[in-house]
Formats: sequence, C-alpha cells, structure tokens
Amino acid sequence: MIISEEEARAKILETIRPLPPRRLSISGALGCFAAEDYFAQLPLPNFDNSAMDGYAVVASSCAPGKRLRVVGEQAAGLDQQLRASAGDAVRIFTGAPMPAGADAIVMQEDVTREGGEIVVNVDVDPGEFVRRRGCDLGEGQKILARGERIRAATTALLASQGFSDVMVGGEVSAAIISTGDELVKPEAKLQPGQIYESNSVLLQGLLHNCGAAERLMEHCRDDEELLTKALKRAIKHRVVIVSGGVSVGERDIVKSALQSLGAKIDIWRVAIKPGKPFLFGHIDECDLFGLPGNPVSAFVTFLQFVRPAILKMMSAVKLDLLKVSAKLLVDLTNDSDRVHYIRGKFEDGIFTPVGRQESHALFGLSQSNALLRLAVGESRKRGVIVNVQVWD
Ligand code: AMP
Ligand code: MG
Repeated sequence: MIISEEEARAKILETIRPLPPRRLSISGALGCFAAEDYFAQLPLPNFDNSAMDGYAVVASSCAPGKRLRVVGEQAAGLDQQLRASAGDAVRIFTGAPMPAGADAIVMQEDVTREGGEIVVNVDVDPGEFVRRRGCDLGEGQKILARGERIRAATTALLASQGFSDVMVGGEVSAAIISTGDELVKPEAKLQPGQIYESNSVLLQGLLHNCGAAERLMEHCRDDEELLTKALKRAIKHRVVIVSGGVSVGERDIVKSALQSLGAKIDIWRVAIKPGKPFLFGHIDECDLFGLPGNPVSAFVTFLQFVRPAILKMMSAVKLDLLKVSAKLLVDLTNDSDRVHYIRGKFEDGIFTPVGRQESHALFGLSQSNALLRLAVGESRKRGVIVNVQVWD
C-alpha cells in the first residue's frame, strides 16, 4: 500500500534505535554525535591573563606621561608569582598570568620604553586588556549536549577542557548493492543500451556526508538468485541500501529477494516525487532501504528517509536538513498526487529550480544544493519567500 511521506518517515524513525555508544579520541570523533552531555570541568580562561603584549600595571597609577619602573617579566607559561604595586610595571605577553596587584595591561604600542622604565602615553582603565578567569565559560556549564554533532570547534573546546576522548554514538556500517543488467562500471567500454553505474558512488558519498561508512559495495545483475546471494552478504551489516529494482516491472526483484530471505517489509511505495517505489524493511538487526534506480529518486529518498535514520542510529538529535528562507525566482505548482521535491540552487537568499525536474536528470541535480517541498496541489508564486532544505 502506498503511504504518505510523513507516515513513511514516522514509521522509519520509530523503528530505528540508536546504536550502542563508543569512546573515541577527540580527533577521531569529528562528525560523530555526542552520546552524553559534557560539562566544563574548568572555567575558561582558567586564570586572569593578559590579552596583549605589553605591561601589567595598576591602572590608578597610570596617566599620560607617567613613568613606571619595570620590575620583572612574565611570559605565557609558568606563573613567576610576580607582584606589581602602584608605580610598577611587569613586562607581559599575551596569555601570561596576571601578576598579583596588577589590574590592567597597557599595550606595548602605548608606552615608550626607556631602560628599566616605561613612560605611559595613555590613560589606563582598570581591567583593560585583562581576560578574566571564567569570562568565556563558567565551571559546570554545559559544553556539549547529547546528540549534538562534534565539529572542529567542539573538539577544540573539549581539548581546552582536558578531555582527550569523548563518548559518541555507534558506528553505522552499511552495504550498498546496485542492481541492473544495463549498468556497467565507469571504466568499462559501453555497449549499445548500456549505461554507467552511478548510484553506488552517489550513495557512498551521501553516507559519508552523514558520517557513516560503506563496508561493502557490490553490483548485481537483475537475477533473483544472484541478488539473494549478494543480500546474504550484505545483511551482515547494520544497514543495507539497494539501488534499483524496487519498482513494479518484472525485473524488479528486490522485494521478492528480500522476502525470500525472511525480510519484513514495513514500507513499499511512498507518495513522494521523485522516489515513489521506495522500500523499507528489516531482517533481524539489519535495516533495509530499497531506493529507486533513477538517480534523482535515489538521492531524494536517501535525504528524506535514509539520512534521518542513519543520523538517529548515530545518536543525533537533529535529523532534518538545514532549512533556510529563500525568495522563489519562478512560479511553481505541484499538479501531481504526490509531494514534489523540486531541485534547485539556493544562493544569496534566492531559490532557482535547476534543470529538468525529472527523476533521471542527474545533471540538474549536480548543479543543485537545495530542495523545495511542494505539497500536493500547492502553488507558489514567483517572489514569495519559501523554506528550502539545503544539503551542501
Ligand atoms: P529501476 O529502479 O531499476 O527500474 O531503474 C530506474 C532507472 O534508473 C533506469 O533508467 C535505470 O537504468 C536507472 N538506474 C538504475 N540503477 C542505476 C544506477 N545504479 N546508476 C545509474 N542509473 C541507474
Ligand atoms: Mg533496474
């Protein structure tokens, strides 16, 4: 039975469970999702320090023309336990701990050095160019929420807190099987009627973008016996993505091959354009996604159904693509009986449909970076503001 896109998505997400978490080094955790909340174990900065190369002083003893005695030097590094009283200056460098007694930094550009003394050329306010302990981050503050993606800046923040590893969501290992008698590998010579196989590399890239990895990639002819064998190898992985062969033609053997292996098919056919023949099911622990062979259909169904499932397995909390507002450049109407995802380019706040809006039109897809969802019967006029989903 054909179901709505919303039902399909809800069904998939209620079936999928996050995988058991694992501990990774912070550098290895880039792109993963935190499996726990993390809290600051240190304030940032951890001690008052200088924001400039210059002199640590007592602000009230400074004024233009005032002479101060240089009583020591404090570089970034071990605290020399220096002290500055009124009339003193401690030579200091960026990141160095503030000497006791000093309450401000005068930049070196604002003084004239004369032997063991400096002449201050400006007024100095207390607190100037001092980075106060805890001004950026307080101890105990949440620094990373469960389900949040770990980005380069996150790893830096974890490192700044002394964490060398982090608990992240489980690794999704996936198998990709492309099907079709007409398909050959890109390096082969094309015979009449053959085309190059392009979905497996597409799906591999989309998996990588989610932070998942393909552990098996196979191509299979439209032969049920061969496909069953390939599927037996594939279902050892957590996720199997099959491309092609899920439609209603005689050569569309994926569903029956899966059923012969005992798969439970939860979804077959969704009211989405492109992508109607989409299939979702499972065998034991393995989740099965059957994507239509047309490249744009495979792409759209991956983004709408497979991506959120994989992100949920990886412990992500935000499962949707980024939505942005854009001005629509043309009139659009969805006359079909399915939700229509229009491919286009989002740039400088404008969304422009690109290329032929047909499920085989790979070139237009390659020039696009966003999808506009049109509900059944929906019309949008040129110039209106729409929400588009951005994938790049
Ligand atoms: P199917 O879903 O198997 O009926 O395929 C639908 C259309 O997509 C046909 O035109 C196929 O040739 C094409 N197609 C299927 N699989 C791939 C693939 N892996 N790479 C490129 N085109 C494909
Ligand atoms: Mg086929």
